[in-house]
Amino acid sequence: VTSGSGASRIAADPRTFRIRPRIQLLALGRAIAGWGSAAGTPSRREELPWRATRDPWAVLVSEVMTQQTQVGRVVPAYRGFLRAFPTAVACAAAPLEEVLRSWRGLGYNRRARNLHLAARAIVNDHGGRVPDDVRSLEGLPGVGTYTARAVLAFAFERDVGVVDTNAGRVLARAAAGRPLRRAESQAVVDAMVPEGGGWRFGQALLDLGATVCTPVPICGACPVRRRCRWSASGRSEPDPARGSSGVSRGQSRFEGSDRQGRGRLVDALRDGPLAEREVASALGWPAEGARAVRVLAGLVADGLVVRGSGGRLRLPD
Ligand code: SF4
Repeated sequence: VTSGSGASRIAADPRTFRIRPRIQLLALGRAIAGWGSAAGTPSRREELPWRATRDPWAVLVSEVMTQQTQVGRVVPAYRGFLRAFPTAVACAAAPLEEVLRSWRGLGYNRRARNLHLAARAIVNDHGGRVPDDVRSLEGLPGVGTYTARAVLAFAFERDVGVVDTNAGRVLARAAAGRPLRRAESQAVVDAMVPEGGGWRFGQALLDLGATVCTPVPICGACPVRRRCRWSASGRSEPDPARGSSGVSRGQSRFEGSDRQGRGRLVDALRDGPLAEREVASALGWPAEGARAVRVLAGLVADGLVVRGSGGRLRLPD
């Protein structure tokens, strides 16, 4: 990140402009940001409470929660979590067990553990304040490229681009008209951010991908259709989004998966300790002892379950 006048922005990678001239990328970025102001972003503001805050801890919590969980399930959990842990300092001071209890209903409990570790790193290494540079953010447990940049754009209002799976579709189709590698997507989006508009542009880009440039795109309702490369080509097959790095190919089946079992066991432990012989039933596979042993070992290795006194299983402190 380089410091400019007031806002910071990511230095543009000149190779990006072989994909499309910079002036066109900026014009596309401005069009997306303008649509966000006029329609997309305000209409979702009440639905998404984290859009009404710039508190970096709250934004970090929202980004971690929304990574793999539907927004409708995240909203009540987000509010409850911030009531329990309004700051990184409060979260760091709490036992992991309490953090895991507040994670109920969200799944992928490893995220809760990482968020707890991140809170402790924020307290130990950053004086209790969420850092505001990419390198420090990416140094926090569980915080990758996307989350670090989302915190910069959505809490600190920096002019950095954010690429999730929805934004990745828009970039491949509208900006490039061809599949993009991960680094290319990041470089393209960084070049599209209008000066001083990182927050507005980022939210609008995510909304555009989530509501209009969906896996089956609704081009007739698209505010940037005139500037879309793929649309200009008559949407010739293959869809550029399909081959792009970071664009989701859908989640693997949940029903009957180890992931489902892991969630069930942590859920059961939220209500109190269990004896080891009760694990297979808690996982939902009473006849699959060997599988239960394997899944339990994974949860223990991930630090989400510990053996307490008398060998009973419980959530960690
Ligand atoms: S015109 Fe269609 S493909 Fe292009 S950005 Fe809009 S919705 Fe996506």
